[in-house]
Amino acid sequence: MALLSARQVTKYFGGLCAVDNLDLTVNEGEIFALIGPNGSGKTTFTNLATGMMAPTSGHIEFQGTIVSGQRPHVITQMGLVRTFQNLRIFSSLTVLEHVTLGNFCRTTTRVWSNILRTKQVREEEDRVRARAEEILDFVGLLDRKNWPARSLPYGQQRLLEIARALATDPKLIMLDEPAAGMTMQESNDLIHLIRAIRDRGITVFLIDHKMRLVMNVSERIAVLNFGRKIAEGTPKEIQENPDVIEAYLGKGRKTA
Ligand code: ADP
Ligand code: MG
Repeated sequence: MALLSARQVTKYFGGLCAVDNLDLTVNEGEIFALIGPNGSGKTTFTNLATGMMAPTSGHIEFQGTIVSGQRPHVITQMGLVRTFQNLRIFSSLTVLEHVTLGNFCRTTTRVWSNILRTKQVREEEDRVRARAEEILDFVGLLDRKNWPARSLPYGQQRLLEIARALATDPKLIMLDEPAAGMTMQESNDLIHLIRAIRDRGITVFLIDHKMRLVMNVSERIAVLNFGRKIAEGTPKEIQENPDVIEAYLGKGRKTA
């Protein structure tokens, strides 16, 4: 069943067509990857799907509801969340605080009861903390929970980004270059983490340049070049596709 569908999505920045008439479907429960050279429109598509910017034309549906053009927090509440290619780690917070922040959009308590700090609020805080700890354990960062987030090595900051996204209890997570800056070992571990995320019932949309990761973990892959989809298929089909080899795979992958 289609979870995310892009229909004829186009995005212009001035005269530059960053996403060009894109049709894309991500099915519920799958691990789907979007790959392509730098500047091919992958991040822009993620921005469009999560409400960071609106398409010039076309639309994106999530669970049958149009999400393109909606506000980001509304889309997050619907269960569509993303991580950022450029890390957004708040320097003053601990690892645990980062993840409890991700939970805020799921808490139900009202502002006035926060001020009164009722029993209900304290219970809510305990629940949020327990859940954040469970998620940190899941990504392998629980023993770092009291570290200042900025003191984590780069690869672990990427894991923290994922943890924060998971804390919003998503149905679909879009990971924008999660392995960028990771060591070989961390990027191998990420294969297992991505599978484990899917096994929690969360559909995964992955963007990355590390082909070992992408080809190992994805079930279906679409390839962008200059904003256009040039191929779609299984990892094997993509690796053998002459257009993909010409545009991307054959050129010595960049990691930026
Ligand atoms: P990718 O993630 O595949 O590397 P992007 O989606 O970041 O590619 O970029 C696609 C194209 O759109 C690039 O040419 C980039 O310079 C341009 N672009 C991306 N974001 C903006 C923006 N906010 N304003 C203007 N141009 C942008
Ligand atoms: Mg990008």
